[in-house]
Amino acid sequence: MPILVMKFGGTSVATLDRIRSAATRVGREVANGYDVIVIVSAMAGETDRLVGLVKETGQFFDAREYDAVVSSGESVSAGLMALILQEMDVPARSWLGWQVPLMTTGAHAAARIERIPTRNILAKFGEGMKVAVVAGFQGIGSDGRVTTLGRGGSDTTAVAFAAAFGGERCDIYTDVDGVYTTDPRISVRARKLDRIAFEEMLELAALGAKVLQSRSVELAMRHGVRLRVLSSFGDPDDGAGTYVCQEEEIVESSVVSGVAYSRDEAKLTLVSVADRPGIAAAIFGPLAAAGVNVDMIVQNVSEEGRTDLTFSCPTDQVARAMRAVEEAKSEGVINFRGLLSDTDVCKVSVVGIGMRSHAGVAAKMFEALARENINIQVITTSEIKISVLIDRKYLELAVQALHDGFELERAT
Ligand code: ADP
Ligand code: ASP
Ligand code: MG
Repeated sequence: MPILVMKFGGTSVATLDRIRSAATRVGREVANGYDVIVIVSAMAGETDRLVGLVKETGQFFDAREYDAVVSSGESVSAGLMALILQEMDVPARSWLGWQVPLMTTGAHAAARIERIPTRNILAKFGEGMKVAVVAGFQGIGSDGRVTTLGRGGSDTTAVAFAAAFGGERCDIYTDVDGVYTTDPRISVRARKLDRIAFEEMLELAALGAKVLQSRSVELAMRHGVRLRVLSSFGDPDDGAGTYVCQEEEIVESSVVSGVAYSRDEAKLTLVSVADRPGIAAAIFGPLAAAGVNVDMIVQNVSEEGRTDLTFSCPTDQVARAMRAVEEAKSEGVINFRGLLSDTDVCKVSVVGIGMRSHAGVAAKMFEALARENINIQVITTSEIKISVLIDRKYLELAVQALHDGFELERAT
């Protein structure tokens, strides 16, 4: 039997009624002749609740116990989905990460999948089981401890299963009917895309579009998994969602295909750093050692041998970042006069493979922001994206201005 992977996100399993409606879709695919691997997320809001409980226990918690707690949301959904499928006379059972076992690295809360043995599940399919319901987001490290794959990680579980089992397709069911030119919750003019190239989707996801976890796109690209995003709400015969595919399969070509944003950014500035060879290594070495994910960096012109150096990182890493640079200062590794932090910034980015061959995208982006009087604090570019750091209060305005500026509401 061909295998299909169907993933249901938090809102798609938020209540027993929602699970029933998801299970009906699964039943249809079984009737279509598939053996189905269903990947489920925790019920909507559950992972946030569990993370909150862990944080209430103390500031510096044991990451292994964090994983033990936050992985439990998916365990509940998997059991409930299997029960409801059985109620519908679809032969199904649940599998927790460790039962598969989905082997991961030991990086708790951000583990990477290393191996998915297929034998156990294939044997059950061989015995007539039709649906394997697998708890997303969770795995097991080589030391036997439960791990999780980072927020949004059930998408990655789904793609990894599709790759491991040679699934015909990996369908990601969510609360929007596909990938849009920007978050449809921010812009009413966002337009649904029928197709998007892996590379563009990867950038959009990495830059904040949470419709897919970026690791899932990376895996799909590497293993050639046919990936589709579609809604679990409404009529199952409505629309085909969005295919994430190879660049060559895309007929529509626009220079910019999407706008992404990330709210959760912070900016730190080291004021008046002694400017000498090796200074960047002396600053970013301790930050890396402290596990700070530095994103954008700017260094100002040096005057009289001193310069200001600014970098951005996720908001929840600011305390760690400040401690790392203060420590490096007290150890005499670096020397600066002041340390400023600003947690009221956000990052807005435009993405498009067409940028490779078109000049002027940056200028157009900056003009669109200038028209709205939005000040740009930091800029970074790569081959297919441009990102700016701006005041968080302008986030929605900036996204809309860029969406309008690049005329994304119009199909080309
Ligand atoms: P799930 O719980 O199903 O995994 P998520 O909340 O993780 O769902 O992802 C779906 C959400 O992603 C949508 O509700 C939407 O607000 C957001 N989103 C952000 N950018 C985009 C985009 N470009 N296209 C579609 N959805 C997007
Ligand atoms: N439940 C996890 C989260 O909220 C994983 C997921 O939904 O993909 O991050
Ligand atoms: Mg998600």
